[in-house]
Amino acid sequence: MAYLTLRGINKIYPNGFHAVHDFNMEIEKGEFIVFVGSSGCGKSTTLRMIAGLENISKGDFYIDGERVNDKGPRERGVAMVFQSYALYPHMTVYDNLAFGLTLQGVDDDVIEKRVQSTAAILGLTPYLERFPRELSGGQRQRVAVGRAIIRKVNIFLMDEPLSNLDAKQRVTMRSEITQIHRETGATTIYVTHDQTEAMTMADRIVVMKEGYIQQIGTPYDLYFNPVNMFVAGFIGEPPMNFAEAVLKNGKLELGENVIDLKPVADKAVLDEYEGKEVVFGFRPEAVKVGFAADADSYRIRCMADLVELLGDNTNVYVNYDGINSILKVDPHDSPEIDSAFEFAIPYGSVYLFDKQTEKRIKLRKD
Ligand code: ADP
Repeated sequence: MAYLTLRGINKIYPNGFHAVHDFNMEIEKGEFIVFVGSSGCGKSTTLRMIAGLENISKGDFYIDGERVNDKGPRERGVAMVFQSYALYPHMTVYDNLAFGLTLQGVDDDVIEKRVQSTAAILGLTPYLERFPRELSGGQRQRVAVGRAIIRKVNIFLMDEPLSNLDAKQRVTMRSEITQIHRETGATTIYVTHDQTEAMTMADRIVVMKEGYIQQIGTPYDLYFNPVNMFVAGFIGEPPMNFAEAVLKNGKLELGENVIDLKPVADKAVLDEYEGKEVVFGFRPEAVKVGFAADADSYRIRCMADLVELLGDNTNVYVNYDGINSILKVDPHDSPEIDSAFEFAIPYGSVYLFDKQTEKRIKLRKD
């Protein structure tokens, strides 16, 4: 059995709302797992059931082989960091860090050592005598993380810990948390609605929607092999482009542009979907403009409606016969606004989905 096992976990709140449906997952010791999804999809509820802060309505939760459904947070050996820092305002950073250990009756000299080493990991050594009000948001969040790691627990749970920080601080703390994870080796479950945080921090990501797991996989898996349109659209920024079409003779008509799928898909797959509505997908960053396109790619003529220069790349909003897409291109290759131009989608960057079920259609049966 894995280190953490969630088997058929459900949450039905007292008002009857079914917030989490049949959550199944195994987590290995030391993994960094991120639960991601839009607000209200059940991430926090699942985390709180793991923490022991919310009872499990149905299903079994095991830590290291032991069923712990009926155990409280302390007995489970978890530490949790929340979105709000909840520091004690009248205590110094030192005392905020030391507080939990003091309550446990740990010796003062042990506390001193642990506070110093935790402060060193988090870069808080110069601030130990300060009060929370004398710290920046990022520093306060570090103290909150410090209070959790000082307890030397095996399992860390974090619920949107960076959402009160500004964009720059978030990027810094992101890498710091990853670093702390490397140093402590604690199994970590991290909740966020931000796909960039999920992609950059996770060993494995769990994508959730409306209380259901959509997919569990490495960042690489989710980006390149999404199981459905939701995951394909959620992971990646800007999101994957979609265009609906009916498959006719193995081809899709996107306005005047024709996508012949025969070179990229098995005949059996095309036969199965012949005459059916499908959704064609490609990522904004997969396209080529200018002279870089190779022969094995689809060419699409379009108009540039809007051009956003972001520095390292440019987002070009295009339309072709009423279909809207976003292309992420090198600023030097960017077309002029209101100009007609051609872009290319390499054969290997094409996705297809069943319009009815929104599931991915594998182009090759292997
Ligand atoms: P997330 O963390 O993904 O934003 P939550 O787990 O907080 O989502 O909530 C999932 C769903 O459960 C939401 O629709 C929310 O409104 C609902 N919910 C959360 N707490 C309660 C509660 N105590 N009683 C009833 N419904 C709740």
